[in-house]
Amino acid sequence: LSDRLTGAFQKIRGQKRLDESNVQAGLREVRLALLEADVNFKVVKQFVDQVRDRALGEDVLKGLDPGQQVVKIVHEELVELLGGEQQGVDTSGARPLKIMMVGLQGSGKTTSSGKIAIWLRDQGFKPYLVPADVYRPAAIDQLVTLAGQIDVPVYPSTTEMNPVDICRDAMEKAAEAGCDAILFDTAGRLHVDEPLMQELAGIKEACTPQEILFVADAMTGQDAVTVAESFNERLDISGVVLTKMDGDARGGAALSIKSVTGKSVKFVGLGEKLTDMELFHPDRVASRILGMGDVLTLIEKAQTAFDEEDAERMAKKMQKAQFDLEDFRTNMRRLKKLGSMEGLLKMIPGMGGMLKQLGDVQMPEKELARTEAIINSMTLQERRQPKLLNAGRKERIARGCGMQVADVNKLIKHFEQMSKVMQKMMGGKKGKLPKMPKL
Ligand code: GDP
Ligand code: MG
Repeated sequence: LSDRLTGAFQKIRGQKRLDESNVQAGLREVRLALLEADVNFKVVKQFVDQVRDRALGEDVLKGLDPGQQVVKIVHEELVELLGGEQQGVDTSGARPLKIMMVGLQGSGKTTSSGKIAIWLRDQGFKPYLVPADVYRPAAIDQLVTLAGQIDVPVYPSTTEMNPVDICRDAMEKAAEAGCDAILFDTAGRLHVDEPLMQELAGIKEACTPQEILFVADAMTGQDAVTVAESFNERLDISGVVLTKMDGDARGGAALSIKSVTGKSVKFVGLGEKLTDMELFHPDRVASRILGMGDVLTLIEKAQTAFDEEDAERMAKKMQKAQFDLEDFRTNMRRLKKLGSMEGLLKMIPGMGGMLKQLGDVQMPEKELARTEAIINSMTLQERRQPKLLNAGRKERIARGCGMQVADVNKLIKHFEQMSKVMQKMMGGKKGKLPKMPKL
């Protein structure tokens, strides 16, 4: 989609003014691009009409490049269509906050339940997870495992139980556990069917959730819209979680679901890992659709992970050649906090496609985890003074983290090389520090 839109506006860009015919030509491309991206045809028509009205009605000759002006209008209309700025779910109401996750099988309900549990905890909640998909034992196990990973209590569902009973009882158990936010991970089907809808309606009636989040796989395009419509008709959903936005088909579903159901996307899933989620920012998605890349998100992510003061302190140590393994580990944790390298690269304009061409790129995340494990096995003194690491100590460290002495040696060598490079880099410009890592 973004390529097509970029192309469409390159045609207008060179021209001096917008008139009926060149607006028309540009919008024809926009329409085709949106349709190709699986946006609902009614949505496309409405969108294109809106942009045309505005483009022609407005005085476009305020010294602006007419192409820029149209891009601005298209961007603004996209933001409008995508809905206002979302702050996740409304957390201001009564406790417990009850959130019901609904959607087709494989859309990402269980994964998103875990992601939202983390988000809720960050908001100060004590979340409780409820596996209400009793049709496959694996579905319960999946949520139980996930809950264990993030240390969130989970209701002990079994496949013999009735989903409505599970949810009802889970509310009591959550209260007993002192939890104030409950996430119901319901069953899905391959297609919308009546028995499922009845079951979900039953859970809704028994639990009166404040939020019913429809989980949609962004890759399913037009289908997601039809399904969203059915779920909304029966359950009156309160919002949407759009998953798998790390894939290619990223514009279409977000655009049309909002337009067809009137319900906003609240969270966006950006990968399989539980940290791969963010709030939905219409302006950013609009930029992404227009091919500007998601630079804002990228910068924000980098900034939260790299506290400036810390970076400055670190750089000073590098200059003085005092950089030790303790600092090395701190830096590495920051890198991890930045999220998956791959996810990060995809946000840079043009990188998504490049990554695809490269095929399945192996990013050094596993490597980071192993390195951290080794450093964790060292004593603080050893981290501060890597020179202390003699054969005996190395052996102890290797045993401690379940790796070989060779791995420890590799790490030390890597560290030494890195500190050399850093000293070289920092040596030249004293006091002058880069504000952010080069991305
Ligand atoms: P459910 O059947 O609706 O509960 O779906 P699951 O949560 O089990 O997810 C189905 C598959 O999609 C799993 O393999 C997940 O790892 C994957 N998945 C979920 N969310 C995302 C996402 O945002 N991005 C990617 N790439 N995969 C996801
Ligand atoms: Mg599931």
